[in-house]
Amino acid sequence: MADIIKLLPDHVANQIAAGEVVQRPASVVKELLENAIDAGASSIKLIIKDGGKTLVHVVDNGSGMSETDARLSFERHATSKITTAEDLFNLNTKGFRGEALASIAAIAHVDLQSKTENAEVGTQIKIEGSKVLSQEITVTPKGTSIAVKNLFFNIPARRNFLKSNQVELRHITDEFQRVALVHPNVAFQFYNNGAELFNLPSENLRQRIVHIFGSKMNERLVPVEENTEVLKVKGFICKPEFAKKSRGVQFFFANGRFIKSPYLHHAVLSAFEGLIKNDAIPGYFLNLQVDPSAIDINIHPTKTEVKFDDENTLYAILRSTIKHSLGQFNVVPALDFNYDQNLDTPYHFQQKGAVRPSISVDSSFNPFVENKSGASGVTGFQKASAKGWEKLFEDIDEDTNSFSSVQFETEMEPSGFFDEQETIAETSQTTFQLKRKYIVTSLKSGMLVIDQNRAHQRILFEKFVQNTAEKEGVSQQLLFPMVLKFAKNEITIFKTLYNDLMALGFVFDFGDQEITVSGIPNMMAESSIGSVLKDLLQNYTEEGYTTETLSRAALTAQTLARTLSIKSGQVLNSASQLALVNDLFGCKEPKLTPSNKIIYITLDATEIENKFK
Ligand code: ADP
Ligand code: MG
Repeated sequence: MADIIKLLPDHVANQIAAGEVVQRPASVVKELLENAIDAGASSIKLIIKDGGKTLVHVVDNGSGMSETDARLSFERHATSKITTAEDLFNLNTKGFRGEALASIAAIAHVDLQSKTENAEVGTQIKIEGSKVLSQEITVTPKGTSIAVKNLFFNIPARRNFLKSNQVELRHITDEFQRVALVHPNVAFQFYNNGAELFNLPSENLRQRIVHIFGSKMNERLVPVEENTEVLKVKGFICKPEFAKKSRGVQFFFANGRFIKSPYLHHAVLSAFEGLIKNDAIPGYFLNLQVDPSAIDINIHPTKTEVKFDDENTLYAILRSTIKHSLGQFNVVPALDFNYDQNLDTPYHFQQKGAVRPSISVDSSFNPFVENKSGASGVTGFQKASAKGWEKLFEDIDEDTNSFSSVQFETEMEPSGFFDEQETIAETSQTTFQLKRKYIVTSLKSGMLVIDQNRAHQRILFEKFVQNTAEKEGVSQQLLFPMVLKFAKNEITIFKTLYNDLMALGFVFDFGDQEITVSGIPNMMAESSIGSVLKDLLQNYTEEGYTTETLSRAALTAQTLARTLSIKSGQVLNSASQLALVNDLFGCKEPKLTPSNKIIYITLDATEIENKFK
């Protein structure tokens, strides 16, 4: 009998592999998004048409591929992510099988464009059903764009098996959300048939959740965090009262990828026991970090089911961590006899969210009541001066010219000085307010006159810039979201500013001609929302987006600082004055306001002396 075994041609093998990797358009979306993440993209655009059946297009700004790599990426088992079998146990990337692109190219029309940072030109490759139609040089920005058209064009049975566009879109949205949730620092845009479905700036996890699932989520989230040797958990659970009978927001991520784990799901359920109805399911967004070698993600081709080495331990840790959070945030009813008191250890997130305001403003101040306010100012003046003047010339003979760096008469190192604000506030009253505009304080070798408004602008500015950079703007949630009306073009401006405002702690939703504000930076008063937003608009329309010297984020921080800063004419009590001085010299650049105006002047003791000559 003649030999009958023959090797399958590549394109057939690829088609068979594709059956495993690509079930529907959503699978393509998942693979392409994960490749973009693996390529280090900070911004990813997803464009689909007709539930992904006509088009799935992903554009990233990641590493891009060289000409050779671009061609090789479509070969089966072509991957840059592992080289040896051992690498499988130490995976930090999402892909590793090197099958996705080969599979997709076997069953669709693919158009890839890619360019690396340093390459002069990019590469464009067109493939249909594993056949390379063309490979050319092209002009394209750094990163990769892969358009997958007419999925299953050569496998009608599979194409007919696809559901309605609506259903496929839902699957795609699910995949998109999973990837977006575990990479909140990556910006995503998602368009379906030309309409924008999501526009997510780089942000923190809470903001990402709120952005995807709506502002109502903000009040529902309870933070969860635990670090143990075997498992690190970080994320949010939803308060028990929001648990629903149907499945809703249940997300586990293990080492940065979405996973399904009925067992760990049960751990969460058991932590909520007694707090929710038996058939209700709590919401959660939990990132689990385990040693990559302790997790096997290879048991299922689409990689959502995983196997952990020591599931029992993970179960126990997860359960007690969540119980702890529920207790910590007073979500547990006062009398819960099952509540484990041993879990009441001080956790570091206890401190979170309660940032002590640095400036306390005299709220009783009324500019129209001359006497009352004036009196408090004057008292402050006399008291402070009485003490301050005594010491002013103590060190008159010493090094009177050293004003380049400000040295307080307390003779402490500036850094130590600021660390010990409390003691200072109690022991030395060395400031007073001049003309409700300046804070005067004595220095080792003279005196210092600070413009209170400018100083506060600088302090707030640096705080906002830091918040923006860390995406850690502390937000206070409004009990009743506030709806504010704006013109359409104004809404557009706010949309441009949205990333920055989110980073500062604002949470809002856009309507056609209104904005619903549900969270504001915690140093802002609720009553000032309207005026702050109007000021922002005005400053932007005046200064435009043209300011080249400042980034948009810095400009927003600057505007906000200017708007929220204490103004001239405002009476400050001595504690506030002192806090202002301390905070100012805790700034990186205490000398100048963000718009380069002088914040303080020093009066040299010799200068003063000379005036008496
Ligand atoms: P895997 O992700 O499992 O390695 P794929 O078939 O998804 O396999 O991709 C093959 C290879 O192509 C990747 O290992 C990577 O080197 C390269 N690649 C794919 N997509 C991108 C992208 N968006 N940016 C840069 N390189 C990419
Ligand atoms: Mg991949």
